[in-house]
Amino acid sequence: MVSRVIPVEVFDLVIFGATGDLARRKILPGLYRRYLAGQITGESRIIGAARTDLDAEGFRQLVRDAIAEFVAADKRDTAVIEDFLSHLDYVSIDAAKGDQGWKSLKAMIRQGVVQAFYFSVAPSLFGDLAEKLHDHGIAHSESRIVVEKPFGRDLASAQALNAMLASHFEERQIYRIDHYLGKETVQNLMAVRFANILFEPLWNSQFIDHVQITVGETVGVEGRGAYYDKSGAMRDMVQNHLMQLLCLIAMEPPYHFDPNAVRDEKLKVIRALQPVPAEDIVRGQYLPMNGAPGYLEDCEDPESKTESYIALKVHVANWRWKGTPFYLRTGKKLRARASEIAITFKEPPHSIFDDAAGWRENVLVIRLQPNEGMNLKVMIKEPGPGGMRLTQVPLDMSFADALGAEGADIPDAYERLIMDVIRGNQTLFMRGDEVEAAWAWTDPIIKGWEARGDRPHGYDPGSSGPEDALMLMHRDGRRWREIKE
Ligand code: NAP
Repeated sequence: MVSRVIPVEVFDLVIFGATGDLARRKILPGLYRRYLAGQITGESRIIGAARTDLDAEGFRQLVRDAIAEFVAADKRDTAVIEDFLSHLDYVSIDAAKGDQGWKSLKAMIRQGVVQAFYFSVAPSLFGDLAEKLHDHGIAHSESRIVVEKPFGRDLASAQALNAMLASHFEERQIYRIDHYLGKETVQNLMAVRFANILFEPLWNSQFIDHVQITVGETVGVEGRGAYYDKSGAMRDMVQNHLMQLLCLIAMEPPYHFDPNAVRDEKLKVIRALQPVPAEDIVRGQYLPMNGAPGYLEDCEDPESKTESYIALKVHVANWRWKGTPFYLRTGKKLRARASEIAITFKEPPHSIFDDAAGWRENVLVIRLQPNEGMNLKVMIKEPGPGGMRLTQVPLDMSFADALGAEGADIPDAYERLIMDVIRGNQTLFMRGDEVEAAWAWTDPIIKGWEARGDRPHGYDPGSSGPEDALMLMHRDGRRWREIKE
């Protein structure tokens, strides 16, 4: 099956923070890959902006190096790379001070093409950028801005950020990135749920026992410990990524696959989240091991109470989900880099087979990384003449197998999301009210453990988190799935 590439409209994309880590690792290599695929047409332009004093050629060299480092060898075509680079320009701008560079930027931007500004800089600069774009008459009523996470660190700061952006841009112009939503499997989750009749009748607490959402990382916070220590796993991962995944599982069918219809339904889920009591939260910090520093050394604060791991049991208080818990967990330095959603179904109401036949639950596993794909674990008869014994087998839907070579070539989340910005499709971007509702749920949880002075539990690097997190499920008669690649 060959995927179709539909070219996007001609655009001018300005990347503020174009010399930074995110631009070099994701945004610019992603744009090159879309160019290679034929999705970006020849007249489009990409303009880098940052304080570093570079000319256009200097910036092109930076992007050439980034492509060499971050694009797979079989996608590096020298002629196409040079062609792509010819669409790049650069302007040196300090967003925080002075007016230098803004006039040049204005001169570079064309009228009559899609205009997008990617704020790949620290959030403290978002306000300056929005204001300068406005004051210099660069942005107009159809321009789009893309803002990176973190979007606030609590409800008050998110509200302030929203209000500040709203003073220069309308909501329909603002694209708040959560790159988890750009993953192929995450979107496929909506296709599986809403394009098949099979799952919907079972998609509720009558048939679903529980849901597990896991985002495991093997790396620690080395190098950026002091920065990470100001946020922690709840702010850095749960409030945005895990919450978005939960929403896609729990939401009602939108009336149409339309940006606001989808986001309205997600918002209802967030508003239905119940407060989480202290006993349903386990936080952890990775310990030192074999000479490698632990979290406290990495963050350079021996007294830090910030979590590098969190597990929570969450309830969605509505008709569909009453009685079905969602267990969320995410952490650093865990056993494997693996992200998945696992939906465990209940037992059949009556078993016609002997206990000895062996029965296990149906589980729908949606894997986000590595190997994006889904599989549904079902029971079948164990082959052979040994009588009626049951065995669990996966009905596999890995994209690579199902869709052939083209299917294996899944665009990176950033590529898809940037193309959506150019297409003007906000479905996979968080709306301002969604972000605020997520913080409104998160804030009291964080305030709760701060007021209690809770200390995270230590856990061994390479494990699946603190022992207490196992108990969170054991006491409900359930168990976490193994974290593995
Ligand atoms: P970074 O490596 O520190 O890069 C920051 C960029 O901003 C650089 O290009 C820097 O270039 C530019 N910059 C800094 N001060 C500036 C100013 N006053 N005026 C104009 N440009 C300025 O940061 P990053 O990792 O790329 O992250 C960028 C944003 O993406 C942040 O909001 C971050 O939270 C978010 N994010 C990053 C990742 C990631 O994987 N890196 C993932 C998710 C979200 P000059 O020094 O040349 O000015």
